[in-house]
Amino acid sequence: MLLTITTTHKPATDLGFLLYKHPDHLKSYDLSCGKAYVFYPQADEDICTVAVLLDIDPIALAKNSRNFSGNFALAQYVNDRPYVLSSFMSVALTKAFSTAMGGRCKNRPELVDVALPFTVTLSSVPAKGGEFIIEQLFAPLGYEIEVERHLLDEKFPDWGMSKYYKVTLTNTLKLQDLLTHLYVLLPVMDNDKHYYTGENEVQVLLDKGKTWLKDHPAKTLITNRYLRNLKSYARMVMRELNDESVEDEKELPEISPELKEKKVSLNKQRLQAVTEQLLKINARSVIDFGCGEGKLIRELLKKPQFSKILGIDVSYNELLKAKDRMHWDRMPDKKRERVELVQGSLQYCDERTLDFDAAAIIEVIEHMDADRLDSFEKIVFSYSQPIHVIITTPNSEYNVLYEGIKPGALRHNDHRFEWTRKEFKAWADKVANNHHYSVVFYDIGDEDEKLGSPTQMAVFTKQSLPANSQED
Ligand code: SAH
Repeated sequence: MLLTITTTHKPATDLGFLLYKHPDHLKSYDLSCGKAYVFYPQADEDICTVAVLLDIDPIALAKNSRNFSGNFALAQYVNDRPYVLSSFMSVALTKAFSTAMGGRCKNRPELVDVALPFTVTLSSVPAKGGEFIIEQLFAPLGYEIEVERHLLDEKFPDWGMSKYYKVTLTNTLKLQDLLTHLYVLLPVMDNDKHYYTGENEVQVLLDKGKTWLKDHPAKTLITNRYLRNLKSYARMVMRELNDESVEDEKELPEISPELKEKKVSLNKQRLQAVTEQLLKINARSVIDFGCGEGKLIRELLKKPQFSKILGIDVSYNELLKAKDRMHWDRMPDKKRERVELVQGSLQYCDERTLDFDAAAIIEVIEHMDADRLDSFEKIVFSYSQPIHVIITTPNSEYNVLYEGIKPGALRHNDHRFEWTRKEFKAWADKVANNHHYSVVFYDIGDEDEKLGSPTQMAVFTKQSLPANSQED
């Protein structure tokens, strides 16, 4: 498999200096599981492309790597690794380009800190979670992304699509940043690593992600996938990125049993409150946007009134969990016909979300970057336009009553913001006003006289428009 990096910086052959690789030479590197070759298919003043070709030896792979988790006896020998870009390519990149990745260049030091135009092509990447994951990982870093999904077998198009993608990334940035992005994000896309992830990987991740990981909206996903199977290490990195001292951890009060108890019942109360609203407004078809592991869907399935339920989530893993919790394979056909679970994002128009009576968006908006809220608003209220929209989100004023939360901290690592009641109301009123909806607010959970309840809920209802008027 092949990775190419092209620049149109003038003179483009400066790339050779930056990478410490002469454009006229072919270099090869021995890896534990094969060989990497570095060469330049094109190198002139206007355009320069460097290619890294990995030639994996499946026998060496079987001898050197940890066991494959494939589900048949020869999985060690017969697998996709020789044909995809994975953690092997990350290793090849550090071997071949370690100086450039470290931000050093003896002959052209002035170039190291210059943002240059680059286009990267990745011939075949396995992306667990599909296009959405690729987008989630690279878009926040400023890349323009083109994704083409490979057919499972070109000779047999009926077999459908594979889980492999050709990805083209374009951006203007420092070469060092480009290389560290690729180094970290290739195994993250794949959600696999060929080597054991030990404690020094924590440092590697913090070093390689030094300039960009902290502000990356998907830093939790990146950290968890990069340090796969090592949750305690992943937590270490998240604390570091969130500027929390690791030593502090032991002294942090555990979430009190009382809070755990409260949390459980708050979840229940929330689901109950949303279900009650959906019954009250007599909804029959409901979208659960950001359905997660499908708690609301399981609740709605108990009531025959809800004849069409669409669960959407950006996370493929959450959808798998949802299916698992619902016992999808054992569900009676009649019940299963009422539900559909699909991967999708609240940031994109999706025809499958049209013509619903109601949408529930429970504890989701606070997981979105604040600058994505405008597009979220357009997608839900202007494109999908269900008759009713129910949104719940934490009330940040209430946080001081939680023992386990430091002052000013958020309730969850992945929350991007939490709103006071005033902030939520201001946003919801503006949304309702922009899109001809009315909105009513409710509190969910134990109420404090001054601070309100832990969860706040807004129920929006579409207003019928006078004839001839149209939303813009
Ligand atoms: N509604 C569920 C899950 C809440 S957690 C419940 O109440 O239990 C937030 C969920 O929103 C996660 O599953 C996350 O994957 C999903 N999510 C976050 N951003 C999203 C987006 N832009 N589009 C779709 N789902 C999103």
